[in-house]
Amino acid sequence: MNLNEIYTELILEHSKNKKNKRNLEEPTHIELGHNPSCGDEITLQLKIENDVIEDISYVGHGCAISQASTSIMIDIVKGVTVGKALELCEKFISMVKGEIGENELDELGDAIAFENIQNLPARVKCAVLAWHTLKDILENNKTEGSFTP
Ligand SMILES: [Zn+2]
Repeated sequence: MNLNEIYTELILEHSKNKKNKRNLEEPTHIELGHNPSCGDEITLQLKIENDVIEDISYVGHGCAISQASTSIMIDIVKGVTVGKALELCEKFISMVKGEIGENELDELGDAIAFENIQNLPARVKCAVLAWHTLKDILENNKTEGSFTP
């Protein structure tokens, strides 16, 4: 897959898809992810119950890459356990750094479109913003299932 294909197809498609861009009614976790180098501001909203991400959405603004990466991430982690979601975050971040092989990428679904973003160093932060933000939320939530303000 070349970079043109990434831009024109998956990323643009996902950045225009607004189904994951909404406010949750009763989020248990809200966290702002900010990438000053591009101006991306993505607020993730999660509803975690019994160690499972029951629902997740985002609001905010940013470039096509950050929006698409966030939307794709939401599709992938919705309905999985906190532990599994953390594993997927680690995997995505490793992939973007070029640290894991293609045979380990199956679980990342459409997110593998960002594999070559490492060739565009200025955009790496856009691609990983939502994943780092989610990782922060989940790591702080590790041992408890309830919301801690
Ligand atoms: Zn950006």
